[in-house]
Amino acid sequence: MLTVYIDMDGVLCDFRGSLVPYINARVRETATYARAHDPVDWPDDVKRILKWAGCKDLDLVVPPTEYEQLDNSAGREMYMRFIERDSLFWAVLEPLKGSSGLISMVTAAGNPYYLLTSPLPHKACEDGKRAWALQRLGLAAPIIMDREKWRYAHPNALLIDDDPGQCEQFRDHGGLAVQWEGTLDNFREVGLLI
Ligand SMILES: [Mg+2]
Repeated sequence: MLTVYIDMDGVLCDFRGSLVPYINARVRETATYARAHDPVDWPDDVKRILKWAGCKDLDLVVPPTEYEQLDNSAGREMYMRFIERDSLFWAVLEPLKGSSGLISMVTAAGNPYYLLTSPLPHKACEDGKRAWALQRLGLAAPIIMDREKWRYAHPNALLIDDDPGQCEQFRDHGGLAVQWEGTLDNFREVGLLI
């Protein structure tokens, strides 16, 4: 019997696929606001967003289209500011299709499972993640919010996570880990799939 810990973003939830459209929508809203107001009246946040998005001309808003651009630039701080305060962003993330059979595979083998997720510091993120789990998985889904996933490692604990660093740390602390690659095929090695 294994106790299975399942990551949310990048395993069950399509964080990356949802982030860029969300950010683009916020930038467009900001540009719409800016067009309707005198620049001397723009709040600092509006100026920062427009500067970050490279909006020299308000009619030509070109927000980043690649997650990596957001991840590796000053934009990271800006998108964090958007999403950490917006529980709805987290609550309505699309499920990742490849993982639709993951939880049933775990429970069919008789293993208890927990969602184990690293929330952003703001409470809105935690609220949104809980709402997602309730809506998508029902009352039965127990959820643990902890950035230090390795603390749950033991010889009969399995972490399923898309982050190779989290998997490595979990193994280093005596647990089992499968790096999620969008397929159930990798679970033979831990005996979950026959
Ligand atoms: Mg993840």
